[in-house]
Amino acid sequence: MKTLPPPKPSLDLETEGATPLAGNPTAPAEPARGRRRDRLAKRVRSVAPSGIRRFFDLIQTMDDVISLGVGEPDFTTPWHIREAAIYSLERGQTMYTSNLGLIELRRAIAEHLARRYGVIYEPNDEVLVTLGVSEGLDLALRAIVDPGDEVLIPDPGYVSYAPGVTFSGGAVKAVPTRPGTGFRPTPAEFRQQITDRTRAVLLGYPNNPTGAAPDRPVLEEIARVIAENDLLAVSDEIYDRLVYGREHVCFASLPGMRERTILLGGFSKAYAMTGWRIGYAAAPRELLAGLVKIHQYTALCASITSQVAAIEALRSGEGDVLTMRDEYDRRRRVIVKGLNDVGLDCPMPEGAFYAFPSVARLGQTDEEFAERLLLEERVAVVPGSAFGECGRGHVRCCYATSLAQIDEALKRISRYVERHAANSAVR
Ligand code: PLP
Repeated sequence: MKTLPPPKPSLDLETEGATPLAGNPTAPAEPARGRRRDRLAKRVRSVAPSGIRRFFDLIQTMDDVISLGVGEPDFTTPWHIREAAIYSLERGQTMYTSNLGLIELRRAIAEHLARRYGVIYEPNDEVLVTLGVSEGLDLALRAIVDPGDEVLIPDPGYVSYAPGVTFSGGAVKAVPTRPGTGFRPTPAEFRQQITDRTRAVLLGYPNNPTGAAPDRPVLEEIARVIAENDLLAVSDEIYDRLVYGREHVCFASLPGMRERTILLGGFSKAYAMTGWRIGYAAAPRELLAGLVKIHQYTALCASITSQVAAIEALRSGEGDVLTMRDEYDRRRRVIVKGLNDVGLDCPMPEGAFYAFPSVARLGQTDEEFAERLLLEERVAVVPGSAFGECGRGHVRCCYATSLAQIDEALKRISRYVERHAANSAVR
């Protein structure tokens, strides 16, 4: 039987890079005076490889796996969006754009934010087109964090947040969120974590992995904490269009927050455009200028083809967003009911496309559960601890897959739970 490869140890700070010098394989690795032995920078070595990676490596070698693992829509980008991109190529649009991105796209983004959330940005110098929210996060953190600055991040949270802070030279301060409150953040916990070195709060709601989307009053209270302590906010709102039966609260639209927030948005999830690598940042001009400075030297600009596609998405993609959202909503209800029915406590997620059930009652850790479920029943889920300490005891199940696949996955999970519950002392 296959077993999961052991996690690669994070690079040893002392020995990494101490290989014999080329040309003299037996000579001890004596670093030249004043030269360090490590090839990689400390902040890079200090970040462990993604906990999700080894699962995906193993899945590649297995047949008949149902993946609830990857957080990616199962839809293809709607045809009219692809067609706009094809037509743009046919017309020979193959060049760089302005560093900030095509002005038509920046206007469309500003209109979208004004119409939907009432928050006003000047397309000329307050909107930047990025290579996905991923680049936006990296730019935002590097633009505002100095070495040693602390950034508060709700735990659990998206896997890139903490490494992003480390790469920017900052220090992560986790703000715990708990199952009892549906993993919604509590303003008091933010207050407790603030020190003289706190620089910013990094929020990601609706949340990956929990699906939590806090109510307006909770976010308003967090906004007050931010303003009172003169902090900045980075708000990752990539799931703003995937919210079920409630409004999305744009953090920049809260009192006093537009001036303190770097708002990140994208196309990957709402329009099923993960492969196009396109997103945006919106912020007051002095802040945005910092992001632009890094972006112009490191990325130059986003792909013109993707920018043209994004314009089409914003202009004519609303029907597609609603159709896909309704479908995710149906799947959400099916998977959450199914998980609860088999005895895995699972709150109803309010946004994104993840269910986050507890597996604690089986007496297994989340990693053990994910590993054994994959090997025994060929269903891939992600251990909650990959998203932070507070994710322990839970697993993330992405329901951006067909209802037929979800039904089959639930049958397999049910079989697994029955078998292991019988063996565990818990039941
Ligand atoms: N932010 C969150 C919360 C995500 O879940 C993801 C992708 O899974 C990203 C950002 C990355 O988005 P993009 O494809 O726009 O880089």
